[in-house]
Amino acid sequence: MRTKITFLFFLIIIFSTLAFAQEEKVCFFCGKKTKEYKFFEEQNKIACLNCLKSKEKCTSCGIPLEDFILVYDQKICSYCNNHLPRCASCNFPIVGNPNYFESDRKRTYCNYCVQTKSRCDVCDAPLGNFFLLLPDSRRICLFCLGEAVFSRKEVSEIRDNVIKFLLQKYQMVISHPLIYSTVGADELSKLSHNKNPDKNGVFVALPDTFKIYFLYGLKEAGLIEVIAHEYAHAWVKEQKKKNISPKIEEGFAQFIAFKTLEYFAYYSQMLKMSLREDIYGEGLREILLWEKEKGNDYVFEYFKL
Ligand SMILES: [Zn+2]
Ligand SMILES: [Zn+2]
Ligand SMILES: [Zn+2]
Ligand SMILES: [Zn+2]
Ligand SMILES: [Zn+2]
Repeated sequence: MRTKITFLFFLIIIFSTLAFAQEEKVCFFCGKKTKEYKFFEEQNKIACLNCLKSKEKCTSCGIPLEDFILVYDQKICSYCNNHLPRCASCNFPIVGNPNYFESDRKRTYCNYCVQTKSRCDVCDAPLGNFFLLLPDSRRICLFCLGEAVFSRKEVSEIRDNVIKFLLQKYQMVISHPLIYSTVGADELSKLSHNKNPDKNGVFVALPDTFKIYFLYGLKEAGLIEVIAHEYAHAWVKEQKKKNISPKIEEGFAQFIAFKTLEYFAYYSQMLKMSLREDIYGEGLREILLWEKEKGNDYVFEYFKL
């Protein structure tokens, strides 16, 4: 009796497994029953191999298309149309990998816009239909515009805070009278005789006055970076050491800007600086290495001797 029950039990198990393995499903697209299919989990739809082979498919998820949305000559399904991230420039869904221009990766951009549209002069992202054209012909996207600092009062406050930090933290006293002015891009390139590599500012040393010019309409992090950077050039100018290589001087100016941004908690801007592949990035990495291996005092003493 006991063997019979066990046998029956085994039989049930075998049958139920078989039934599971051979379970037929109905294809959502042709209505036919099938044992070979692909399950599109997010959309909860089953597609038979025949439909997968013969029908046109969504470029993004590969499901057979019933109707479609055309995104720059690529056809996508309505599910993808509703769920893909959108391009901050054209607002179409992004098929494939999105592009980023801000280190916080808040906004995504499609390849089409990246390849074809003109760019924002602040964040370099493709411009949308609306942007601000500044008198110096810089173009600023709406996102940057919302964060750009234009008021004189705000600029002075930020500048004063940067200098206060540099005096307290590094005792970077400058004895020359120092004049700050905000200028447009056209004037900035004239001032730097078109060969100044500092994109957003320039330091000019006159016999008895120092001048720092920087672009108006920068975002706060950019403003902090350029003021600290040009201030560092002014400080180096008053030190004994001359004939400093451009990489070390720009690296030191970037180092000062980097530390100031750290104090004001602009970490993503710091990351951007540290990844640059030019003398600014290389110089910064070198000075950070000096600081790490030989200490902070060594960095400053280098320019004094
Ligand atoms: Zn089918
Ligand atoms: Zn799709
Ligand atoms: Zn786009
Ligand atoms: Zn922008
Ligand atoms: Zn510089």
